[in-house]
Amino acid sequence: MAVIASVPGRQTMRAEADVRVVRAQTARPMRLTVLGATGSVGTSTLDLVERVPERFEIVALTAQSNARALAALARKHRAKFAVIGDERCLGELREALAGTGIGSAAGEDALVEAAQMPADCVMAAIVGAAGLRPTFAAAARGIRVALANKECLVSAGHVFTAEIKRSGAELLPVDSEHSAAFQALTDADPESIEKIVLTASGGPFRTWTREAIATATPEQALKHPNWSMGSKITIDSATLMNKGLELIEAFHLFPVSVEALDCVVHPQSVVHCLVSYVDGSVLAQLAAPDMRTPIAVALAWPQRMTAPTEKLDLTRLGSLTFEAPDETRFPALRVARAALRRGDTGPAVLNAANEVAVKAFLDRRLKFLEIAALVEETLDAAERQGAICPANCLDDILAIDGHARRLAEDGLSRY
Ligand code: NAD
Ligand code: MG
Repeated sequence: MAVIASVPGRQTMRAEADVRVVRAQTARPMRLTVLGATGSVGTSTLDLVERVPERFEIVALTAQSNARALAALARKHRAKFAVIGDERCLGELREALAGTGIGSAAGEDALVEAAQMPADCVMAAIVGAAGLRPTFAAAARGIRVALANKECLVSAGHVFTAEIKRSGAELLPVDSEHSAAFQALTDADPESIEKIVLTASGGPFRTWTREAIATATPEQALKHPNWSMGSKITIDSATLMNKGLELIEAFHLFPVSVEALDCVVHPQSVVHCLVSYVDGSVLAQLAAPDMRTPIAVALAWPQRMTAPTEKLDLTRLGSLTFEAPDETRFPALRVARAALRRGDTGPAVLNAANEVAVKAFLDRRLKFLEIAALVEETLDAAERQGAICPANCLDDILAIDGHARRLAEDGLSRY
């Protein structure tokens, strides 16, 4: 498989390092926009900002429907602009911001406008394919994109990386495994990388039998052993679909073939990724499972900023263990790998079908193992219809995403 994308923006970042040092000396704060400010990644980002407010200037904050929380964050961080996705919530947002001078707007176009406002960095932390348009808009500005929204790379990998290259944007991965790989990858020749291995916690059902997993409830699936995250990614972590999505994400970020990407279950979630080189060296990144570390890396790179993440105490941890993932009990991983190998719009169909399936599981319309089954059926149906094909632009991707959602909804009616 050909190399798809070089290590994201690494050359750019190295080239820009001097500029950033000068900026730090002149004490100009980083102008930061946070898309998905009320979510798990969004609030962790703002928690870091709150600790060193002199280093940041908040431009825009966005959320989907929690106007009250958005307004509180906008007030606290003296944002210039607050955008709510759901237009029905604009009145509440305006009321909560009355007298502050903070601008407000609502709707999908306003989310894109927020992403386009002059800024040095956009934290892309909207969940799901809903994040595609705003994140693309940020990328088009040629600024730093701290990417938590994995769907941009999963659904639109080639198109998104092409846009990053065209605009000269810096792409900094926020997903902890990809941040870890990014840190463990040196500027060595891509040919010298033998393997990139992402770790997975194994989720709450790691030791459960297939029979028990089949009857798992949303409440059980939402109890992640190590990480505190939004509900969509927490369910994906329980099915291991998240690791499949992350393999696709890694494929677009790093200059390796599909065969050079792998994952291993590591229940302690301390080692986040391992990069093996041809000389036998394996570089890994370790940190306590706290998203504030990879977020801090993405905000401060190539410098480092302080994060309140618990310090690792290896003697207290005692042992770190690793095991092979079981694709019989966790079929989503196999389905995602197949979509990655299939290429073209396969991963976009996978992601859309999975979003439908996860929502149906949370609404108790699907059983746990049926999530992967519905996604696989949707991929097969899309293939039969010729909907797994090359995509040239974001609109192509969004059309396939919509089509796959309709196919998945149809499939859902048979469960
Ligand atoms: P979350 O559900 O906690 O928050 C999502 C944010 O997006 C909220 O601010 C919400 O208001 C907003 N949002 C939701 N739907 C929207 C829509 N239709 N339009 C506009 N805004 C919308 O999600 P999260 O866990 O913070 O995850 C955000 C992204 O980061 C996801 O893509 C996820 O896969 C990725 N990620 C999260 C973590 C984590 O630890 N939470 C780790 C790695 C990657
Ligand atoms: Mg991750």
